[in-house]
Amino acid sequence: MLRNNLVRLCFYVALFGCISFGSSGADEGMFPISELGRLQLNKKGMELTPNDLFNPDQVSLVDGICRVNGCTGSFVSKNGLIITNHHCAFDAIQKASTAANDLLQNGFTAKTLQDEVPASNYTVRITEGYSDVSEKVLSAVTPSMPFLERTQAIDKRRKELEQLAEKENKGLRAEVAEMFAGKTYVLFLYTYIKDVRLVFAPPVSVGAFGGEADNWEWPRHTGDFSFMRAYTAPDGSSAEYSPNNVPYHPKRHVRVAPQGANEEDFVFLLGYPGRTVRQKTLSFLQYEQSVRLPTVVELYAWQIQEMDKAGAEDRSVAIKHASRTKSLANVEKRSRGQLLGLKRTSIIASKEEQEKSLQAFIDADPTRREKYGSLLAEIASVYDDMTSKGALELHFKELKSACRALSFAFTIYDAAIERSKPDLERETPYMNRNFDQTIQQLKLDIADWHPKTDTTILTGLLNRLSTIPSNSTIPPLSRLLSRRIARDAQAAALIEGSRLGDSGFVDECLKKSPEELAKTNDPILALMIELYPHYKSLRDLDKERDGKLGKLYGTLMEAKQAFQPSEFVPDANATLRITYGRVRGYSPADAIQKTPVSTLQGVIEKTTGVEPYITPKAVIDRYQAKDFGPFVHPKLGQVPVAILYNTDTTGGNSGSPVFNAKGELVGVNFDRTFEATINDFAWNESYSRSIGVDIRYVLWITGIVYDAKHLLDEMEIAIK
Ligand code: ASP
Repeated sequence: MLRNNLVRLCFYVALFGCISFGSSGADEGMFPISELGRLQLNKKGMELTPNDLFNPDQVSLVDGICRVNGCTGSFVSKNGLIITNHHCAFDAIQKASTAANDLLQNGFTAKTLQDEVPASNYTVRITEGYSDVSEKVLSAVTPSMPFLERTQAIDKRRKELEQLAEKENKGLRAEVAEMFAGKTYVLFLYTYIKDVRLVFAPPVSVGAFGGEADNWEWPRHTGDFSFMRAYTAPDGSSAEYSPNNVPYHPKRHVRVAPQGANEEDFVFLLGYPGRTVRQKTLSFLQYEQSVRLPTVVELYAWQIQEMDKAGAEDRSVAIKHASRTKSLANVEKRSRGQLLGLKRTSIIASKEEQEKSLQAFIDADPTRREKYGSLLAEIASVYDDMTSKGALELHFKELKSACRALSFAFTIYDAAIERSKPDLERETPYMNRNFDQTIQQLKLDIADWHPKTDTTILTGLLNRLSTIPSNSTIPPLSRLLSRRIARDAQAAALIEGSRLGDSGFVDECLKKSPEELAKTNDPILALMIELYPHYKSLRDLDKERDGKLGKLYGTLMEAKQAFQPSEFVPDANATLRITYGRVRGYSPADAIQKTPVSTLQGVIEKTTGVEPYITPKAVIDRYQAKDFGPFVHPKLGQVPVAILYNTDTTGGNSGSPVFNAKGELVGVNFDRTFEATINDFAWNESYSRSIGVDIRYVLWITGIVYDAKHLLDEMEIAIK
C-alpha cells in the first residue's frame, strides 16, 4: 500500500514541472523525500541510493530519523537513544531544574535507565508513509464559497482524512500537510511516541556557549547537543509515561562516524524544516519588512529585558523564565537578521522584477489576462489590509500570549467553548487527540508563572496598546485603557487578584461551561471573557485571509508554471525533507573569508569567565591535559567544535543529523549564520550557511569530559 502511495505522490511535483538543479554541490531546496529519485544525488557526491535513504517497503535511513516536538533528532542506538540539540531539550532540562538541583547549570547524566528524567509534553514521531490527498481535500470546496467557509471546509476535510487514516492504520498518527498553498495536500503517517526522557545534557555553559551574543553567528563554539530516549509500553505500542515502559526499538538507528567530516566533504541532512516563505509575493515581503518583523523585534527585545531583570537577583525566577526568554531571543535576533537581509540583499528588487515580467506575460494574452490578470493585485490587497490593521492586531495578539495569565485564561475559556462542539469542528488543540497535551502544556506553563514579571509585561502591553488609536475598535479594551487608574496598579490588581496560579482552581475551571466560568469572579478570566469575542473575530479574519490567499496563491502557481515551468520546490512545512551540500566557508563581507571548522582552542580563547563565555572547569582541565582521545581533527590537531556547510535549512532542522556521503552521522545541525537568516525568504549559495556541532565534540564532551562512557558504548564508539 505504501509503495502505491509513493507512486501517486509524484503527481504533485509533476503538476508543477520539475525542479532545476545546479552543479555547485548544493542546491536550493528542502526536497520532499518523494523527490529522491529525481535529485541525482550520486552526481553530487552521495554514496547511497535513493532506496537506501527511503524505501517504504524495507528498512531505510529515514527510519532512523525522528521529529522531536518542533525539532529533529536521530536514533543512535537500537534502544531508542536520540541525539538532538541542547536547545531542543532545553524545555525538559529547564522544567526538571530547581535552584537546588540546577540541571541547566550543572548538566545532567543519567547513569542508568532508571535515572532518566521524563520530559513532559515531548513527543517523537517517525515518518512511516505518505500519500497525496489533494483531490480529496479540494473536493470539499466550491469556487463560490466565501473564504472563511473555504478554510473551515478544508480544515474539516483534513481532520476527517486524518481520523480515517488513523482508523485504518491502528496505532499511527496521521497528519495532512499543505505542500503548495491551495493546491497540494499530502497525508503523512507517523509512529507517535509520547514517553520521552532526558538522558544527557552538558551544562548550559557548553550547550549554549556564547549565548545570544553568538547565536546566529559564525564562528561558533557551542556544544548544542543532548541525548533523550523514546519509550513505549512493553508491547511496543505508544503510551503515556509509565515506569513500566521500555525503551523503543527503532526499525533502524544511524551509525555514528567518530572521524567526523572535513572541509569540502559532501554532507546531507534529513529533517523537519518548519516554515519558509519563498513562494510568497512582493506584497508579503513588504508587509514583513514594514510591519511584522519590526513589531516582533520591539516586543520581544523588551520582554527579554524585563525577564532578564526579574531573574537577575533570583535563580529560581531565572529558571522559570529561561525557556521563554531563550525562544523569544532566538526569534528576535533572527527577525533582526531578516530585516537586515531584506535591506542588504536584492531579494525585494528581484521579486519586483520577477512579478513585473510575470504580469507582462499574463497581460500579453487575453485569456491569461482574464484568468490571472488581477491576481497579484488581489493578493496585495490582503497584505494591505494586514498592514493597515497590523499595529493593533499584532499587539492585541501579543497581549494574550505575552501576558501569561491572559494566555492561561484564553486556553481555559476557549477550551470550554470549543469542547462543546463536535470533535471535527473544534480548533485543533481541543480535539480529543490533542486535548491531553494541551492541558499538560497549560499546567507546565502555569508552573513557570511569575506574577510579578507578568504584571510588568501586562503594564507594558497596555501602555503600548493605549498609543494605537484604533484600539477603540475593541470596546472592552478601550474601556480598560481609559480607566482612571495608574496602569501598573491596574495590571497588579488584575494579576494579583487572579487565582490562575492555583492548579486546583484551574482544574475546577477546566470542568466548567462558559457560563459557569463567567461566574468565577476571577479578574483575569473576566477580562478574557470580555475580550474573547474579539479574539474569536480575529481568528476568523485570519482564516478568511488564509482562505483567500490559499485560493489566490494556488492560481498564482498555475500562472507561474505557465510562465517559467521549472522552479518549484514546496516551502518548508514541518514535513520530512532532505537537503545536501558541502562543508564550506563563505565570505560575509568584503575582504572577510570565514573558514568552516571551529575548535576547542577557540572555546578556550573566547572564555572570559563572564556570561555568556564561561567554560566549565572539567572542559578546561581536559583541554589542558590534552586528553582528546581519538577526537582530533587530522589537520588542525584540535577537537573540532562546530562545522559550517552550504545546505538549505531553517528552524525545525534544529537537531537534524548531518550525514556524510555514506549516511553516517558526522554532526548535529543547530543554527544558521546571521546572513543566512534571510534564506527563509530566498536561498543563495553565497550567504546560506548552516551550522552543526561536530560529532567529535559531542563524543569528547560526553565520553571524556563528563565520563558518560556508557553512552558511547551504547553508540558502539570505542575510545581507544
Ligand atoms: N537555531 C535555529 C532555530 O532555532 C535553527 C535554524 O533556524 O536554522 O530555529
